[in-house]
Amino acid sequence: MQFFILEAEQPAKKLEYDLIIVGGGPAGQSAAIYGTRYMLDTLVVEKEAHGGSVNLTDFVENYPGFPDGIEASKLASLFYEHAKNLGAESVIAQVTKIQKVEEKKFLINTLDGLVFTAKSVVIATGTQPKRLGVPGETELTGRGVSYCAVCDGPFFKGKPVAVVGGGYSALTEALYLAKLVDKLYLIHRRDQFRAAEILGYRVRNHPKIELVLNSVVDEILGDDKVRGVKVRNKLTGEVKTLDVDAVFIYIGLKPNTDFLKGFVELDESGFIPTDRYMATNVPGVFAAGDVRVKKLRQIVTAVADGALAATSAYEYIHE
Ligand code: NAP
Repeated sequence: MQFFILEAEQPAKKLEYDLIIVGGGPAGQSAAIYGTRYMLDTLVVEKEAHGGSVNLTDFVENYPGFPDGIEASKLASLFYEHAKNLGAESVIAQVTKIQKVEEKKFLINTLDGLVFTAKSVVIATGTQPKRLGVPGETELTGRGVSYCAVCDGPFFKGKPVAVVGGGYSALTEALYLAKLVDKLYLIHRRDQFRAAEILGYRVRNHPKIELVLNSVVDEILGDDKVRGVKVRNKLTGEVKTLDVDAVFIYIGLKPNTDFLKGFVELDESGFIPTDRYMATNVPGVFAAGDVRVKKLRQIVTAVADGALAATSAYEYIHE
Protein backbone atom coordinates (compact mmCIF):
# COMPACT_ATOMS: atom_id res chain seq x y z
CA MET A 1 0.00 0.00 0.00
CA GLN A 2 1.21 3.49 -0.78
CA PHE A 3 1.69 5.80 2.20
CA PHE A 4 1.81 9.51 2.24
CA ILE A 5 3.47 12.01 4.46
CA LEU A 6 2.23 14.81 6.70
CA GLU A 7 5.38 15.22 8.71
CA ALA A 8 8.19 12.80 8.04
CA GLU A 9 7.38 10.71 11.08
CA GLN A 10 3.62 10.70 10.59
CA PRO A 11 2.31 8.55 7.77
CA ALA A 12 -1.46 7.99 7.87
CA LYS A 13 -2.14 4.69 9.53
CA LYS A 14 -5.06 3.36 7.54
CA LEU A 15 -7.72 4.15 4.95
CA GLU A 16 -10.97 3.62 6.90
CA TYR A 17 -12.30 6.20 9.33
CA ASP A 18 -15.54 7.17 11.02
CA LEU A 19 -15.12 10.83 10.20
CA ILE A 20 -13.03 12.43 7.49
CA ILE A 21 -12.57 16.17 7.55
CA VAL A 22 -11.40 17.74 4.31
CA GLY A 23 -9.43 20.88 5.14
CA GLY A 24 -7.16 21.57 8.10
CA GLY A 25 -7.90 25.21 8.90
CA PRO A 26 -9.65 26.41 12.06
CA ALA A 27 -13.00 24.85 11.06
CA GLY A 28 -11.40 21.51 10.20
CA GLN A 29 -9.27 21.34 13.34
CA SER A 30 -12.21 22.28 15.51
CA ALA A 31 -14.30 19.53 13.87
CA ALA A 32 -11.41 17.14 14.59
CA ILE A 33 -11.27 18.20 18.24
CA TYR A 34 -14.99 17.57 18.63
CA GLY A 35 -14.94 14.41 16.50
CA THR A 36 -12.25 12.75 18.60
CA ARG A 37 -14.04 13.68 21.79
CA TYR A 38 -17.13 11.93 20.39
CA MET A 39 -14.77 8.93 20.09
CA LEU A 40 -14.97 9.01 16.31
CA ASP A 41 -11.96 7.67 14.49
CA THR A 42 -11.07 10.95 12.80
CA LEU A 43 -8.80 11.94 9.92
CA VAL A 44 -8.05 15.46 8.69
CA VAL A 45 -6.99 15.61 5.04
CA GLU A 46 -5.27 18.90 4.27
CA LYS A 47 -3.96 19.97 0.87
CA GLU A 48 -1.15 22.33 1.90
CA ALA A 49 -0.50 23.40 5.47
CA HIS A 50 -2.48 22.85 8.62
CA GLY A 51 -3.97 26.12 9.76
CA GLY A 52 -5.32 26.99 6.32
CA SER A 53 -5.53 30.62 5.34
CA VAL A 54 -4.84 31.73 8.91
CA ASN A 55 -1.22 31.14 7.95
CA LEU A 56 -1.52 33.86 5.33
CA THR A 57 -2.01 36.59 7.87
CA ASP A 58 0.33 38.01 10.47
CA PHE A 59 -1.52 38.67 13.65
CA VAL A 60 -5.01 37.91 15.00
CA GLU A 61 -6.58 40.51 17.26
CA ASN A 62 -10.17 39.32 17.44
CA TYR A 63 -10.02 35.72 18.62
CA PRO A 64 -11.40 35.57 22.17
CA GLY A 65 -9.05 34.47 24.91
CA PHE A 66 -6.00 36.31 23.58
CA PRO A 67 -6.41 39.86 24.92
CA ASP A 68 -3.07 40.97 23.49
CA GLY A 69 -3.69 39.22 20.16
CA ILE A 70 -1.74 36.24 18.92
CA GLU A 71 0.53 35.49 15.98
CA ALA A 72 -1.64 33.84 13.34
CA SER A 73 0.76 30.97 12.67
CA LYS A 74 0.96 30.29 16.41
CA LEU A 75 -2.83 30.10 16.66
CA ALA A 76 -2.93 27.78 13.64
CA SER A 77 -0.39 25.44 15.20
CA LEU A 78 -2.25 25.46 18.53
CA PHE A 79 -5.43 24.31 16.74
CA TYR A 80 -3.48 21.55 15.01
CA GLU A 81 -1.70 20.42 18.20
CA HIS A 82 -4.98 20.38 20.09
CA ALA A 83 -6.65 18.06 17.56
CA LYS A 84 -3.55 15.89 17.34
CA ASN A 85 -3.23 15.55 21.13
CA LEU A 86 -6.80 14.31 21.28
CA GLY A 87 -6.03 11.60 18.75
CA ALA A 88 -7.03 13.08 15.40
CA GLU A 89 -4.89 11.83 12.55
CA SER A 90 -3.78 14.08 9.71
CA VAL A 91 -2.39 13.72 6.23
CA ILE A 92 -1.30 16.13 3.57
CA ALA A 93 -3.14 15.11 0.42
CA GLN A 94 -5.44 16.76 -2.10
CA VAL A 95 -8.96 15.40 -2.23
CA THR A 96 -10.14 15.20 -5.83
CA LYS A 97 -13.50 13.47 -5.47
CA ILE A 98 -16.05 12.39 -2.87
CA GLN A 99 -18.77 9.82 -3.58
CA LYS A 100 -21.51 8.38 -1.47
CA VAL A 101 -21.77 4.63 -2.10
CA GLU A 102 -24.39 3.91 0.55
CA GLU A 103 -25.70 5.39 3.79
CA LYS A 104 -22.72 5.92 6.11
CA LYS A 105 -20.19 5.02 3.48
CA PHE A 106 -18.30 7.65 1.52
CA LEU A 107 -15.29 7.21 -0.73
CA ILE A 108 -12.75 10.01 -0.67
CA ASN A 109 -10.21 9.99 -3.53
CA THR A 110 -6.94 11.87 -3.42
CA LEU A 111 -4.61 13.08 -6.12
CA ASP A 112 -2.06 10.45 -5.07
CA GLY A 113 -4.54 7.71 -5.99
CA LEU A 114 -5.56 6.83 -2.44
CA VAL A 115 -9.17 6.02 -1.58
CA PHE A 116 -10.27 6.61 2.00
CA THR A 117 -13.64 5.56 3.36
CA ALA A 118 -15.63 7.40 5.99
CA LYS A 119 -19.04 7.11 7.60
CA SER A 120 -19.45 10.87 7.49
CA VAL A 121 -17.58 13.79 5.92
CA VAL A 122 -17.01 17.40 6.97
CA ILE A 123 -15.93 19.77 4.23
CA ALA A 124 -13.84 22.64 5.56
CA THR A 125 -11.78 23.53 2.51
CA GLY A 126 -11.98 27.29 2.91
CA THR A 127 -11.30 29.77 0.16
CA GLN A 128 -8.60 31.20 -2.06
CA PRO A 129 -8.01 34.80 -3.17
CA LYS A 130 -9.98 36.14 -6.14
CA ARG A 131 -8.02 37.52 -9.08
CA LEU A 132 -8.49 41.05 -10.41
CA GLY A 133 -8.33 39.91 -14.02
CA VAL A 134 -6.41 42.95 -15.34
CA PRO A 135 -3.46 43.00 -17.76
CA GLY A 136 -0.17 42.35 -15.99
CA GLU A 137 -1.67 40.47 -13.06
CA THR A 138 -0.92 36.91 -14.17
CA GLU A 139 2.37 37.78 -15.85
CA LEU A 140 3.72 39.56 -12.77
CA THR A 141 2.43 37.18 -10.10
CA GLY A 142 5.43 36.28 -7.98
CA ARG A 143 7.29 39.28 -9.39
CA GLY A 144 5.57 41.93 -7.33
CA VAL A 145 1.94 40.85 -7.65
CA SER A 146 1.01 39.00 -4.47
CA TYR A 147 -1.99 37.66 -2.61
CA CYS A 148 -0.08 37.16 0.66
CA ALA A 149 1.37 40.14 2.50
CA VAL A 150 2.92 38.01 5.22
CA CYS A 151 4.72 35.83 2.67
CA ASP A 152 5.94 38.57 0.33
CA GLY A 153 5.76 41.83 2.30
CA PRO A 154 9.28 41.50 3.75
CA PHE A 155 10.73 41.66 0.19
CA PHE A 156 9.45 45.22 -0.12
CA LYS A 157 10.85 46.79 3.06
CA GLY A 158 11.25 50.52 2.57
CA LYS A 159 9.63 50.43 -0.89
CA PRO A 160 6.32 51.86 -2.18
CA VAL A 161 3.52 49.31 -2.61
CA ALA A 162 -0.20 49.21 -3.37
CA VAL A 163 -2.99 47.19 -1.78
CA VAL A 164 -6.22 46.67 -3.72
CA GLY A 165 -9.55 46.11 -1.93
CA GLY A 166 -11.69 47.57 0.79
CA GLY A 167 -12.65 44.61 2.96
CA TYR A 168 -11.26 43.03 6.11
CA SER A 169 -8.35 41.43 4.34
CA ALA A 170 -7.25 44.53 2.43
CA LEU A 171 -7.34 46.73 5.52
CA THR A 172 -5.73 44.20 7.86
CA GLU A 173 -2.94 43.44 5.43
CA ALA A 174 -2.43 47.11 4.53
CA LEU A 175 -1.88 47.87 8.21
CA TYR A 176 0.60 45.00 8.45
CA LEU A 177 2.47 46.10 5.30
CA ALA A 178 2.55 49.73 6.42
CA LYS A 179 4.91 48.64 9.21
CA LEU A 180 7.41 47.47 6.60
CA VAL A 181 7.09 49.70 3.59
CA ASP A 182 7.89 53.29 2.90
CA LYS A 183 4.58 54.25 1.30
CA LEU A 184 1.34 52.37 0.72
CA TYR A 185 -1.49 53.25 -1.65
CA LEU A 186 -4.78 51.63 -0.68
CA ILE A 187 -6.85 51.40 -3.86
CA HIS A 188 -10.56 50.80 -3.35
CA ARG A 189 -13.42 51.03 -5.82
CA ARG A 190 -15.73 52.85 -3.39
CA ASP A 191 -15.24 55.35 -0.56
CA GLN A 192 -16.67 53.10 2.16
CA PHE A 193 -14.91 50.08 3.58
CA ARG A 194 -16.42 46.67 4.19
CA ALA A 195 -14.72 45.95 7.53
CA ALA A 196 -14.83 46.74 11.24
CA GLU A 197 -14.85 50.51 11.83
CA ILE A 198 -11.63 50.34 13.83
CA LEU A 199 -9.72 49.15 10.76
CA GLY A 200 -11.14 51.99 8.63
CA TYR A 201 -10.13 54.45 11.32
CA ARG A 202 -6.60 53.07 11.46
CA VAL A 203 -5.98 53.14 7.71
CA ARG A 204 -7.48 56.61 7.32
CA ASN A 205 -5.15 57.93 10.02
CA HIS A 206 -1.99 56.04 9.11
CA PRO A 207 0.84 58.39 8.07
CA LYS A 208 2.23 55.98 5.45
CA ILE A 209 -1.12 55.06 3.87
CA GLU A 210 -2.58 57.14 1.06
CA LEU A 211 -6.16 56.28 0.16
CA VAL A 212 -6.97 56.04 -3.55
CA LEU A 213 -10.74 55.79 -3.36
CA ASN A 214 -13.46 55.38 -5.97
CA SER A 215 -10.71 53.96 -8.13
CA VAL A 216 -10.08 50.76 -10.02
CA VAL A 217 -6.93 49.15 -11.32
CA ASP A 218 -6.80 49.11 -15.13
CA GLU A 219 -3.36 47.53 -15.48
CA ILE A 220 -0.37 46.39 -13.51
CA LEU A 221 2.77 47.69 -15.19
CA GLY A 222 6.18 46.08 -15.38
CA ASP A 223 8.40 43.78 -17.38
CA ASP A 224 10.46 41.43 -15.26
CA LYS A 225 8.94 42.95 -12.11
CA VAL A 226 6.18 45.33 -11.06
CA ARG A 227 7.02 48.96 -11.77
CA GLY A 228 3.65 50.61 -11.30
CA VAL A 229 -0.09 50.39 -11.33
CA LYS A 230 -2.47 52.26 -13.59
CA VAL A 231 -5.58 53.39 -11.73
CA ARG A 232 -8.73 55.08 -12.95
CA ASN A 233 -10.97 57.26 -10.81
CA LYS A 234 -14.51 56.04 -11.47
CA LEU A 235 -16.08 59.44 -10.70
CA THR A 236 -13.79 61.74 -12.68
CA GLY A 237 -12.38 59.32 -15.26
CA GLU A 238 -8.86 60.51 -14.40
CA VAL A 239 -6.20 57.90 -15.06
CA LYS A 240 -2.88 57.98 -13.21
CA THR A 241 0.10 55.75 -12.66
CA LEU A 242 1.31 55.03 -9.16
CA ASP A 243 4.98 54.06 -8.98
CA VAL A 244 5.03 50.95 -6.82
CA ASP A 245 7.21 47.87 -6.54
CA ALA A 246 4.42 45.53 -5.48
CA VAL A 247 0.65 45.15 -5.69
CA PHE A 248 -1.10 43.13 -3.00
CA ILE A 249 -4.57 42.04 -4.12
CA TYR A 250 -7.32 41.46 -1.55
CA ILE A 251 -10.62 41.66 -3.39
CA GLY A 252 -12.44 38.75 -1.84
CA LEU A 253 -12.52 35.03 -1.74
CA LYS A 254 -13.35 32.13 -4.02
CA PRO A 255 -14.42 28.90 -2.29
CA ASN A 256 -12.34 25.76 -2.80
CA THR A 257 -15.21 23.64 -4.03
CA ASP A 258 -14.39 22.79 -7.65
CA PHE A 259 -13.91 19.14 -6.71
CA LEU A 260 -17.42 19.06 -5.22
CA LYS A 261 -19.34 20.10 -8.35
CA GLY A 262 -22.08 17.57 -8.98
CA PHE A 263 -21.71 16.06 -5.51
CA VAL A 264 -23.10 18.67 -3.11
CA GLU A 265 -25.22 21.70 -3.87
CA LEU A 266 -23.22 24.92 -4.37
CA ASP A 267 -24.53 28.47 -4.66
CA GLU A 268 -23.87 30.66 -7.71
CA SER A 269 -20.46 31.67 -6.29
CA GLY A 270 -19.51 28.10 -5.38
CA PHE A 271 -20.10 28.34 -1.62
CA ILE A 272 -21.90 25.44 0.10
CA PRO A 273 -25.38 26.11 1.47
CA THR A 274 -26.03 24.37 4.80
CA ASP A 275 -28.78 24.30 7.37
CA ARG A 276 -28.10 25.61 10.85
CA TYR A 277 -26.65 22.25 11.86
CA MET A 278 -24.06 22.47 9.03
CA ALA A 279 -25.82 19.80 6.96
CA THR A 280 -25.45 20.03 3.18
CA ASN A 281 -28.05 18.62 0.81
CA VAL A 282 -26.28 15.23 0.97
CA PRO A 283 -27.10 13.35 4.20
CA GLY A 284 -23.89 12.60 6.09
CA VAL A 285 -21.94 15.45 4.47
CA PHE A 286 -21.48 18.60 6.53
CA ALA A 287 -19.69 21.86 5.76
CA ALA A 288 -17.88 24.23 8.12
CA GLY A 289 -16.01 27.51 7.97
CA ASP A 290 -15.40 29.94 5.13
CA VAL A 291 -16.45 27.45 2.43
CA ARG A 292 -20.03 27.64 3.64
CA VAL A 293 -22.66 30.23 2.70
CA LYS A 294 -22.52 32.52 5.73
CA LYS A 295 -22.51 36.12 6.80
CA LEU A 296 -19.34 36.40 8.85
CA ARG A 297 -16.13 34.62 7.82
CA GLN A 298 -13.94 34.79 10.90
CA ILE A 299 -11.84 32.31 12.85
CA VAL A 300 -14.30 32.41 15.69
CA THR A 301 -17.24 31.52 13.44
CA ALA A 302 -15.19 28.85 11.65
CA VAL A 303 -14.38 27.01 14.88
CA ALA A 304 -18.01 27.20 15.95
CA ASP A 305 -19.05 25.70 12.61
CA GLY A 306 -16.50 22.91 13.03
CA ALA A 307 -17.80 21.97 16.46
CA LEU A 308 -21.37 21.86 15.20
CA ALA A 309 -20.47 19.94 12.03
CA ALA A 310 -18.70 17.23 14.05
CA THR A 311 -21.67 17.01 16.41
CA SER A 312 -24.02 16.57 13.45
CA ALA A 313 -21.68 13.98 11.93
CA TYR A 314 -21.66 12.06 15.22
CA GLU A 315 -25.48 12.10 15.32
CA TYR A 316 -25.68 10.98 11.67
CA ILE A 317 -23.29 8.08 12.31
CA HIS A 318 -25.24 6.94 15.38
CA GLU A 319 -28.80 7.61 14.24
P1 NAP B 1 -14.56 40.92 1.06
O1 NAP B 1 -15.08 41.19 2.41
O2 NAP B 1 -15.42 40.24 0.06
O3 NAP B 1 -14.06 42.31 0.47
C1 NAP B 1 -13.58 42.38 -0.83
C2 NAP B 1 -13.23 43.82 -1.14
O4 NAP B 1 -12.70 43.88 -2.44
C3 NAP B 1 -14.46 44.73 -1.10
O5 NAP B 1 -14.10 45.97 -0.55
C4 NAP B 1 -14.82 44.85 -2.58
O6 NAP B 1 -15.36 46.11 -2.89
C5 NAP B 1 -13.49 44.73 -3.26
N1 NAP B 1 -13.61 44.12 -4.58
C6 NAP B 1 -14.25 42.99 -4.92
N2 NAP B 1 -14.11 42.72 -6.22
C7 NAP B 1 -13.35 43.71 -6.73
C8 NAP B 1 -12.83 44.00 -8.00
N3 NAP B 1 -13.08 43.20 -9.05
N4 NAP B 1 -12.08 45.11 -8.14
C9 NAP B 1 -11.83 45.91 -7.11
N5 NAP B 1 -12.27 45.68 -5.85
C10 NAP B 1 -13.02 44.61 -5.67
O7 NAP B 1 -13.20 40.05 1.10
P2 NAP B 1 -12.08 39.90 2.21
O8 NAP B 1 -11.64 41.22 2.73
O9 NAP B 1 -11.07 39.00 1.62
O10 NAP B 1 -12.82 39.15 3.36
C11 NAP B 1 -13.45 37.91 3.08
C12 NAP B 1 -14.04 37.33 4.34
O11 NAP B 1 -12.99 37.00 5.25
C13 NAP B 1 -14.95 38.29 5.03
O12 NAP B 1 -16.05 37.57 5.51
C14 NAP B 1 -14.13 38.82 6.18
O13 NAP B 1 -14.91 39.14 7.29
C15 NAP B 1 -13.20 37.66 6.47
N6 NAP B 1 -11.91 38.11 7.03
C16 NAP B 1 -11.80 38.33 8.36
C17 NAP B 1 -10.62 38.77 8.90
C18 NAP B 1 -10.50 39.00 10.37
O14 NAP B 1 -11.44 38.85 11.08
N7 NAP B 1 -9.36 39.41 10.91
C19 NAP B 1 -9.52 39.02 8.10
C20 NAP B 1 -9.65 38.79 6.74
C21 NAP B 1 -10.85 38.35 6.20
P3 NAP B 1 -16.86 46.54 -2.42
O15 NAP B 1 -16.72 46.86 -0.97
O16 NAP B 1 -17.14 47.71 -3.28
O17 NAP B 1 -17.72 45.36 -2.71
